[in-house]
Amino acid sequence: MAARNVATYCLVELMGADGVPRGVAASHREPERDGAVLASLSLPWVDGTLHPARECFLSGETRFLPEVGPELRERMCQGPEHRALLEALNPHSLLAVAVRMRGRTLGVITLGTAAPCRRLVTADVAMAEELARRVAVALENASLYRDAQAAVRLRDEFLSVASHELKTPLTSLKLQHGLIDRAALGDVGDKVRPRLATAVRQVQRLSALVDSLLDVSRMSLGRLKLEPSDVDLGQAVRDAVDRMEEVFSLAGCPVRVEVPGPLPGKWDSLRLDQVLVNLLTNAAKYGAGRPVLVEAAFEGEEMVRVSVRDEGIGIAAEDLPRLFGRFERAVSDRHYGGLGLGLYISRQIVDAMGGRIEVESRPGLGSIFTVRLPRSTAQCAPW
Ligand code: ADP
Repeated sequence: MAARNVATYCLVELMGADGVPRGVAASHREPERDGAVLASLSLPWVDGTLHPARECFLSGETRFLPEVGPELRERMCQGPEHRALLEALNPHSLLAVAVRMRGRTLGVITLGTAAPCRRLVTADVAMAEELARRVAVALENASLYRDAQAAVRLRDEFLSVASHELKTPLTSLKLQHGLIDRAALGDVGDKVRPRLATAVRQVQRLSALVDSLLDVSRMSLGRLKLEPSDVDLGQAVRDAVDRMEEVFSLAGCPVRVEVPGPLPGKWDSLRLDQVLVNLLTNAAKYGAGRPVLVEAAFEGEEMVRVSVRDEGIGIAAEDLPRLFGRFERAVSDRHYGGLGLGLYISRQIVDAMGGRIEVESRPGLGSIFTVRLPRSTAQCAPW
């Protein structure tokens, strides 16, 4: 645009990671001459010659040559090849402005005009400096975005490796617990067993956390498959609540299940159970020892609905939209442990099943999480 509307040609050079400036874009009002403009970029800078762009790079200051006469052109000449280029480009005014961000020169934009185009004037300097400022902001944003993406990639790789590494010793620890349990007899057994039960519970908790990390890394790599089979959702809900009886009683939350009758459908039963357990765990954890109601029912012919309602701490409206994201939490780590992955994983599973998960909540009054699912899901979801 600068070459077309303001000057005759425009060069953009950016500082490389090695500290050497490189031409990244060049344009001439007559497009077939872009090549000559680019060629002028690749010429080495000869000491002692006048070079507005290089001076601008070094000082960070604008270099403006409103009138390039034969004498200045001679001082700019870097050698025979450059002389030929200068003659071809025939500049009669030149302007180099620095692209700067936080005190660093990231690059230089050079505008040149040749007859019959008008010479550049002071107003063009202000315009070019503003253009350079905007280019600097855009470059900075792009580089921050790239850094952020690289950091996320690194985190995902770490997650994947760490969760796999943690899984192996945990599996062996579980086996050892089984062996100890069988070997501990008589008096020794009576003393060992309660401690063993605690150890088993802690390993189960650790395994659940590692499984969540593994799921997240699988999901971000798109490697999770669904295996649908015939499932009665009502039974699945009752089973999950039964298995979590101890969790609810420790939390002091009475649970009520309301299921009208069988709710048959085709779902991946393990993944469905994972969603239910995540929602039930949260209801117990954030339920403030108040009653929890779990309901499941048909919604029309083709859909089912499960909801988990608690009367606990609730969630502030501004936190609701982000809670289904990875590692997102709306409570302080000091008061409530957790990785902030349960809702993320649940949403990924429900999405893959073609359903929806929603939450309504009021701080201090409680929350209701509702999952709606079609009664059958595809064999292999596009994770
Ligand atoms: P975690 O419970 O490990 O933090 P989740 O992904 O399951 O991770 O939940 C994310 C956040 O959503 C929680 O940290 C909490 O702030 C909020 N949350 C989830 N369920 C409830 C609930 N039933 N009541 C209040 N807040 C909840």
